[in-house]
Amino acid sequence: MMSKPYKLYFITGSQDLYGEDTLKKAAQHSREITEHLNSRLGDAAHIECMPVVRNSEEIADTCRKASCDRDCVGVIVWMHTFSPAKMWIKGLQRLHKPLCHLHTQYNETLPYDTIDMDFMNLNQSAHGDREFGFILARLGIKRHVVVGYYKDERTVSELRRFAEVAKAISFSENLKLAMFGSNMREVAVTDGDRVESQIKYGWEVNYYGIGDLNELVSKVTPAEAEEKLRDYLSMYELRTQDTGAVLEQAKMEIALRRFLHSGGFKAFTDTFQDLHGLTQLPGLAVQRLMGEGYGFAAEGDYKTAALCAILWKMAECRAGATGFMEDYTYDMKDGLVLGAHMLEVSPAFAADKPSIEVHPLSIGDKSAPARLVFSGIPKDRNTCDAIAVCMTDMGKGFRMICAEIELVAQPKPMPKLPVARLMWKLKPDFETGAKKWLEAGGGHHTVVSSALTMEDIELFAKLTDTELIVIK
Ligand code: MN
Repeated sequence: MMSKPYKLYFITGSQDLYGEDTLKKAAQHSREITEHLNSRLGDAAHIECMPVVRNSEEIADTCRKASCDRDCVGVIVWMHTFSPAKMWIKGLQRLHKPLCHLHTQYNETLPYDTIDMDFMNLNQSAHGDREFGFILARLGIKRHVVVGYYKDERTVSELRRFAEVAKAISFSENLKLAMFGSNMREVAVTDGDRVESQIKYGWEVNYYGIGDLNELVSKVTPAEAEEKLRDYLSMYELRTQDTGAVLEQAKMEIALRRFLHSGGFKAFTDTFQDLHGLTQLPGLAVQRLMGEGYGFAAEGDYKTAALCAILWKMAECRAGATGFMEDYTYDMKDGLVLGAHMLEVSPAFAADKPSIEVHPLSIGDKSAPARLVFSGIPKDRNTCDAIAVCMTDMGKGFRMICAEIELVAQPKPMPKLPVARLMWKLKPDFETGAKKWLEAGGGHHTVVSSALTMEDIELFAKLTDTELIVIK
């Protein structure tokens, strides 16, 4: 799951009115600004400085180029001088990449002793960016507006946010998702309009019979499974005598990897109601893939699986964990949510070395599956800020709901709970947080992330034109 070299185009607007000298300086300043930004944002994206655009033809050509460049995930546009905005209409109508309107200046302060009309004409973003802002608003183009001196920490961090969200949107537009089986029978919130998902977000969501996976499982050799088991033993603590059950998960992991790799899938679902041919519900196998960034959600919940992969991609350059989660049960007295799933919790959340355990499932009639068990809270802290995000299909359109939560340490051991789990507090308090979630129609499946913030989700929702309800 290594990243491609993602690019952002840096486009500086001007016009011919000011003469060659001014345009040369504008180009030089743009290069210096992009060099600085690359030194700060290089891990998230490479910013490519484009030639200063002076007229509608150059603007349209640059926007077309950005739209056609597969490695370009977004554009940053800045008016160094004044660039009459009718010149931008044709180009903006041909731009199909997320847009960040950067409102900055090459100079941080005014040179009070020397300022003259030449300086004013060269450095007039205050003027030019207002003209540009108008045409963006008039055309109804969703964009991230970032205001501040380009070397300021806050400006850089907002541009980083744009780079990461733009990258996630590009990932979304190319996402392929495999559903093993379909939606869990009669469950509403996990279902959705897959045609509309593809129109809106680009996801190619396709159904596969579990037999397609089972065939690959049966082809895994004993030697391959044994080798995988040795990997497990080097990473996890084995707390079971039933190595046969663990080997079965090793086979499923190998088979799943082959299936996902051969189809270019970055996300998948399964359902415990349709496991024909498999001896166990995939647990450990799925957890291992989730820990590497494959999007997953159970019970055929393709929307959460896709969201999981997209948010993992958004967060890949940051500290913290991102993964599928389910609100399971409460400590109402202390206002605590216990989040877990039947098996499938990402080991990215593990606070310490996960253990491999084998226990029967209380539902379904398959063999006892092997799974990774751990509790999750960052090692060095008692609490940790996080968000819980879900995506629902309201019929008239998709709705995202994002709640700020606080991950907390498990107050007491739970020696009989055979699954990995997280615990958290709702914000602003238990009653309000839960009430608002229910009123918004938020599902029980979410993506929890301690790497991302509400602002990241707000930007994703804005740039994808998705309804968002926030709870904090
Ligand atoms: Mn579930």
